[in-house]
Amino acid sequence: MTVAQVATDVAAGRTFDYEVPPGLEAAAVPGAMVRVPFGARVLDGLVLGVSDATAWPKPLRKVIGAAPGEPPLTPPLVELAKWMSRYYLAPIELCLRSMLPPVVRDGVEKDAFARALVVRAAPGADARAAEATERQREILARLAGGEELLAGFCRAWRVSPQTIRTMQARGLVEVEEKVRRRDPLAGRRIARSAPPPLTAEQETALAAAVAAIDEAAAPGGPPPRPVLLRGVTASGKTEVYLRAMAEVLARGGGAIVLVPEISLTPQTIRRFVARFGSVVAVVHSRLGAGERHDEWHRIRSGEARVVVGPRSALFAPVRKLGLVVVDEEHEPSYKQDETPRYNARDVAVMRGRLERCAVLLGSATPSLESWHNAKTGKYALAEMAHRAVDMEMPRVTVVDMREEALRNEGRMPVFSEPLVRAVRRRLADGEQTMLLLNRRGFAPTVACEDCGHVETCGDCSVGMTLHAADSVLRCHVCGAWRPVPSRCPECGSANLRRGGVGTQRVEDVARRLFPGARIARMDLDVTTRKRSHEEILSDFRAGRTDILVGTQMIAKGLDFPNVTLAGVLAADSGLAMPDFRAAERTFQLLAQMAGRAGRGAKPGDVVIQTLSPGHPAVVHAATEDFAGFAERELEERRQLAYPPFSHLDCVTFRGEDRAAAEAYAARFAAAIGREGDWRLGSPVPAAIEKAKGLWRFQVALRGPRPALLNSRIAAALAACPPPRGVSVAVDIDAVGAL
Ligand code: ADP
Ligand code: ZN
Ligand code: ZN
Repeated sequence: MTVAQVATDVAAGRTFDYEVPPGLEAAAVPGAMVRVPFGARVLDGLVLGVSDATAWPKPLRKVIGAAPGEPPLTPPLVELAKWMSRYYLAPIELCLRSMLPPVVRDGVEKDAFARALVVRAAPGADARAAEATERQREILARLAGGEELLAGFCRAWRVSPQTIRTMQARGLVEVEEKVRRRDPLAGRRIARSAPPPLTAEQETALAAAVAAIDEAAAPGGPPPRPVLLRGVTASGKTEVYLRAMAEVLARGGGAIVLVPEISLTPQTIRRFVARFGSVVAVVHSRLGAGERHDEWHRIRSGEARVVVGPRSALFAPVRKLGLVVVDEEHEPSYKQDETPRYNARDVAVMRGRLERCAVLLGSATPSLESWHNAKTGKYALAEMAHRAVDMEMPRVTVVDMREEALRNEGRMPVFSEPLVRAVRRRLADGEQTMLLLNRRGFAPTVACEDCGHVETCGDCSVGMTLHAADSVLRCHVCGAWRPVPSRCPECGSANLRRGGVGTQRVEDVARRLFPGARIARMDLDVTTRKRSHEEILSDFRAGRTDILVGTQMIAKGLDFPNVTLAGVLAADSGLAMPDFRAAERTFQLLAQMAGRAGRGAKPGDVVIQTLSPGHPAVVHAATEDFAGFAERELEERRQLAYPPFSHLDCVTFRGEDRAAAEAYAARFAAAIGREGDWRLGSPVPAAIEKAKGLWRFQVALRGPRPALLNSRIAAALAACPPPRGVSVAVDIDAVGAL
């Protein structure tokens, strides 16, 4: 008897055994989608494994049918899903779900391709043209270039459907229904680019990547070692990716490039398409369902062999996968913040191991985890210390804002003197400036001067941010808004003070300081409304904007040759975050921002405004000294046994009832126990204690062995399951918390 282990959407973290009838044995293979009876219902499910026996004591129910065509998941992807489920303590059906785009999940049986009628000249139409009318001959002439979409053709040349039917009946044209690809890049003309000769540093880096590709291709060898490529900003990492991908394509394989969603700009996409043309498939969240569906099928069929996309693109079913590139591998956005809470960079390394493909991690500021892995030999390391073309690294000036405040009668200016001077020089010389402030809105707090009342969101324990443009207060956690009050709701005083600075305020002040300058702002507020990301950037690129103000959105990966000044308005804004990676994040942001300046022929300047000019993150970023920063920070982490010297998991308990959530957090911690090869933190309120109406408590667990931590957490949850009204979120290798 053949037995299939099937996971359905209602599987609740497990699989069920079904008998595979003889007629379905060829179709019900691992990765295939099948229909199975479940209670009184019939469900779709994915086959995770096939065996010849079952432990189930009763007669098995039978698989009813299987979706035609190739299984949606390949066997290595099925193995990867199982690993994710174990490692991240996530139900298997949710891991499988995150691997398939929704339209594919629903459309494996249902045919979701788009079809359209095409018209072309019939073979031998020329011979019959003598008997045709003049109008018919004219139509045939217009079809001489090849087949056309029927609807568009009739519209463009004012041809009636009746005319086409008549011509069809006379054997002059043929009409056929065809699958029509919904192409996300349709209408964009992207010229093919030839690869430039590599620099010596690029050659060395490429050699390391090719060595890994060779290693992965050698059957039976040890698992291929991932390669960490650390290259300063503009050192030409992307060119190394492109060459390594070309190498894999030349060997008949395929490649995946992961980029953070935020840097998946048309500019990035263009670089890959320009090199490889139509074998590139693009996947991202702004695609329509139809485009996603078609791109996925192009990948599954082997027509597309290069996939560029964010986190979820890691699961693309690329044939003969030879290489996975993770660009900006340190980016926290590779971590998914809902179940399964996976880190695409780490899952990429596991996919490389399971599927024997090379993994190339690139960054100017690698995560300390990857850096540590490279330093200890777990990963291979390639370094590029110079910019690719003859460009100097930017000059960095650190401005002590405490001194600026003293010179300004004790008030903190938004722009320091050196920054104002630097911007003015750019305006005079026709060069461009980027200004970063990692806080959107106008003023982060609105407080009463008389009673101290601070406007907060009722559902979240955070202050409301003033957005001056539409005079509302907004909660940045849940998005709620309300009009700005004219009087304090507590004491009725009219002395409401706006505290702190957001990007809107920076834009405002810049307009006053630099009259006549063309200023644009890019942050979440702008890009969700008014103008798109793409429009703002293309205006900036074309030189229609002098100064671009933005949040971290503008710090990542953008390449504008005429930008010669990058200003960071408050370098310390992230240092106070309750996150052991606060210094690392600040260093990364400063170094990335510095990398935006001076990418063209003219050298760049960077001005960093800070209240803590002596902080290691600021000092080392100012000299682009990643190694120095890493050494110092790693020593601190070692002493405190924080990652990468341990694994850190975070379990969050949420509930409408504050006391119930807190009490359960304490019971969970007690169930974990303090005796063992781990360190248990006391239950604490989350950094944002209340969000969207739910109170949140957290317990952190650290230890050297992730498997042990996982089994402790699983055992504790099993021993004392959460009460009604309290939900639990397990975050393995947590990012951005505690
Ligand atoms: P990174 O990804 O490291 O930030 P990029 O790949 O974007 O760097 O390269 C920075 C700039 O240098 C780009 O404009 C790119 O076209 C150019 N570049 C990269 N490699 C070369 C090379 N070998 N020869 C000439 N120009 C190069
Ligand atoms: Zn008041
Ligand atoms: Zn809120």
